[in-house]
Amino acid sequence: MSIEVQSVRKTFGDFTALRDVSFQVPKGELVALLGPSGSGKTTLLRIIAGLEAADHGSVLFHGEDATDRSVRDRQVGFVFQHYALFRHMSVFENIAFGLRVRPRKLRPSEQEIHTRVHALLKLVQLDWLADRYPPQLSGGQRQRVALARALAVQPQVLLLDEPFGALDAKVRKELRRWLRRLHDEMHITSVFVTHDQEEALEVADRVVIMNEGGVEQIGTPGEVYDHPATPFVYHFLGNVNLFHGRIHEGRARIGEIEIEAPEHADARDIPAVGYVRPHDIEVTRHRNGTAAIEATVSYIHLIGPLVHIELTGCDSGNLIEVALSKDRYQEMKFQEGERVFITPRNLRVFAQGSQAGAGEGLAKA
Ligand code: ATP
Repeated sequence: MSIEVQSVRKTFGDFTALRDVSFQVPKGELVALLGPSGSGKTTLLRIIAGLEAADHGSVLFHGEDATDRSVRDRQVGFVFQHYALFRHMSVFENIAFGLRVRPRKLRPSEQEIHTRVHALLKLVQLDWLADRYPPQLSGGQRQRVALARALAVQPQVLLLDEPFGALDAKVRKELRRWLRRLHDEMHITSVFVTHDQEEALEVADRVVIMNEGGVEQIGTPGEVYDHPATPFVYHFLGNVNLFHGRIHEGRARIGEIEIEAPEHADARDIPAVGYVRPHDIEVTRHRNGTAAIEATVSYIHLIGPLVHIELTGCDSGNLIEVALSKDRYQEMKFQEGERVFITPRNLRVFAQGSQAGAGEGLAKA
């Protein structure tokens, strides 16, 4: 079932939690709502579920307005961060619960419940734990039982709110891969909330990036990571270096470096900020005939798969971080205190203070 969120607004007193949020989740897609704490993700998920009413706007399920549909009629399954399984019920009974509470006419037979619960336990790879009780399970196992319980009633839509939030990093990683595989098998339209960038980028088909109650960008993980639409998205999705410059008549200038900024054809010498990821910076000993920014190597960090180099001395004392492959570092053997030249390979320029995009491209002289 597809989901369409149309111009949803929500206030709590005079605080605006959601301002005009719209996006679509095509049938069978797994979409992540990603944003910092307080950006409105949970509120939005609760509105989709029908647990909370929007002040304005609507949620469509399969093209039909779901505003007046109860939580039960929406046929959604939930998994929350601290999904309280019933402690006094076995794993089997927890998963069977949603089927047993159905009105008699809709309730499957005892045999069917047994078959379905065991199929779900197999799916979440816990069939050997059917008789255990929740306190006898690990956190990761409990979340998998919670997911099996949500799936038991064959929901049309699955909503997950920080489902792995309470688990340690290693288990989280395992579970998110497992969720991805499960989704590939079942294709239930799913929306999951997370504030963890890596989790969203690794698991989701598409990511909705939220900030202060609004949507900053919607795209595939590749699109939002490689082409951030706003400075916020740049900062939120990884390390980034800032270079100050100016935009004039469709061209941006950062030190000696100039790039096209066609969106700002009418700009008259306005301040701008260039954004570059640490792995998108070339470091050389000589100018090599191209425009470059001069800097001094201040610190070299050799631990891990990449070599991280910090540089100072350019852009009014801003610290610049560069990530080099070990091979490139071995070849160049930079030293702390050495004077070098840096060239951004992929520089994106925004007018200062603006949220909208501007020039993007390869830096050139
Ligand atoms: P987190 O990652 O911390 O869970 P979130 O992005 O899910 O954050 P929400 O829980 O949706 O954010 O909350 C958005 C904002 O709305 C927050 O500032 C929160 O304090 C406020 N808020 C949420 N529910 C209520 C409520 N029932 N009454 C008043 N304010 C609320």
